[in-house]
Amino acid sequence: MKLVYTNENRFLVNNAKNILENAGIAVTLTNEYAAGGTGALSPFDTWVELWVVNDSDYEDAVRAIEASPGPEQAGQWKCDRCGEANEPSFEFCWNCRREKP
Ligand SMILES: [Zn+2]
Repeated sequence: MKLVYTNENRFLVNNAKNILENAGIAVTLTNEYAAGGTGALSPFDTWVELWVVNDSDYEDAVRAIEASPGPEQAGQWKCDRCGEANEPSFEFCWNCRREKP
């Protein structure tokens, strides 16, 4: 098994899972029921993780997720200059330092 995708937004992880299942790739989720659990877990530990069952599917899985239109749904913004996706909290493009539009 290989970890292919994780995000604090479980909607995005489930979205990625659907993409891979539609592509015929066997996947499994971990931490699916961890969020809202014990205070002993750090926030990162409660992120849902998407794993490919067969390591040989890993490259295809990464490509399928990257090709999907998911990121904008999480409030990310796209840089005017270089087109890279940036986290909502970024004031400048991580790639070329252009200001958030
Ligand atoms: Zn940029």
